[in-house]
Amino acid sequence: MPDLATIGAALGSIKTATEIARLIKDSGSSLEQAEVKLHMAELLGALADAKVDVANIKLDLIDKDETISSLEEKIKTQGETVGFLGARYYVNDDGDPTGSPHCPTCWAQSKDLFPLLAWSNEDPTHKCGKCSSKVLGRQSPLDADYYIKSQREASVKIGGNFELKTTK
Ligand SMILES: [Zn+2]
Repeated sequence: MPDLATIGAALGSIKTATEIARLIKDSGSSLEQAEVKLHMAELLGALADAKVDVANIKLDLIDKDETISSLEEKIKTQGETVGFLGARYYVNDDGDPTGSPHCPTCWAQSKDLFPLLAWSNEDPTHKCGKCSSKVLGRQSPLDADYYIKSQREASVKIGGNFELKTTK
């Protein structure tokens, strides 16, 4: 597990080694040869522990690097998306929602894009195949381009101003 406990353990071992080294230094010639040997053994033990801890930290950092790379790759291949009505959509070159809706729950949880599908003739919702979340059909148009175009035309017809509201 990459965590602060590993770093804490390494620092603890280094602190112990430092204390033993200081003890040997401060005692000067007052220590018996046997005592010096004993403290030296303790010192070497503490240093060996620190070495293992630092090696674990190195492994943790490699793990983290791999996780970061895979997340970066995920972001790169996904393209830009926006929240529109009750779903998540890819954006076109104008930055407007385009294509079919994706599950807002899966997006919120893990930045994964799973399609919302029409699944029932009786239930006016679209359902996520992954987490089974349901979003009202009118809150998740299956063709965003067509929906926006017809909304825009409708508001022009009545002299209104169509405003496209999206969220990051
Ligand atoms: Zn979902």
